[in-house]
Amino acid sequence: MDKVRIGYVDYDIVPNTDKKLDGQFIHTDKQITISEGLSPADKLNTIIHEILHGIWYHWGLGEQIEKPKKAEEMVVTALANGLTNVIRDNPQFLVALSEFAEEEEWHEKDTLIDA
Ligand SMILES: [Zn+2]
Repeated sequence: MDKVRIGYVDYDIVPNTDKKLDGQFIHTDKQITISEGLSPADKLNTIIHEILHGIWYHWGLGEQIEKPKKAEEMVVTALANGLTNVIRDNPQFLVALSEFAEEEEWHEKDTLIDA
């Protein structure tokens, strides 16, 4: 997976070069970065985390909150870690999600086709 669509933007998923961070959501560059040296579980958690930052941004979740940056990191980290745990503890979870998504008749033009 080298791209992900969030809201109206297609983000490139590229290697992270900032050694202090596992990943970043960078709206201005239309990029999500992920460090290459992470374990598979950490990559899974990091991509969920960065996509949640993208959802937070695109759906304006911080607009009605005091101290939105602090709230964003707290909420994104809790949800990403929780989802990573659910995925780890329920091996059929992602399979089921994939099956539900395949059963749905999405409009082809609305989906991001990986070239
Ligand atoms: Zn974060």
